[in-house]
Amino acid sequence: MASETEAALAATLSDSPTIFDKIISKEIPSTVVYEDDKVLAFRDVNPQGPIHILLIPKVRDGLTGLSKAEERHIDILGRLLYTAKLVAKQEGLDEGFRIVINDGPQGCQSVYHIHVHLIGGRQMNWPPG
Ligand code: IMP
Repeated sequence: MASETEAALAATLSDSPTIFDKIISKEIPSTVVYEDDKVLAFRDVNPQGPIHILLIPKVRDGLTGLSKAEERHIDILGRLLYTAKLVAKQEGLDEGFRIVINDGPQGCQSVYHIHVHLIGGRQMNWPPG
């Protein structure tokens, strides 16, 4: 079993702080590629392509994963996707890219702070694993 899947199955849904809180507070280092008052985008430590960036809301507000989204989250969800498009352009992904939001154990989610994966720089395949 791939280690990402193992990590996802070992993770439990909780509202506790995650490693992403420490990335937001700069307590642990990350390679930030975009930042504004609401969104932080940084390179994934275990890239699944030449470009692999995670986009997260700076304030989680209960949004541990997409399945927990409520109406109050509509603005931040739209902002995450729009920012992904801006970052894709910034990264030169003019031939296309993949956006992924993993949710829950079967969706292979390992960090319970919602995040958008932006992956590009290689030919993608379908269906995903
Ligand atoms: P998920 O499996 O969709 O929850 O994605 C979590 C992602 O966070 C994985 O792709 C990990 O490689 C990534 N990740 C975990 N810790 C760090 C870190 O400290 N810096 C950058 N990426 C991380």
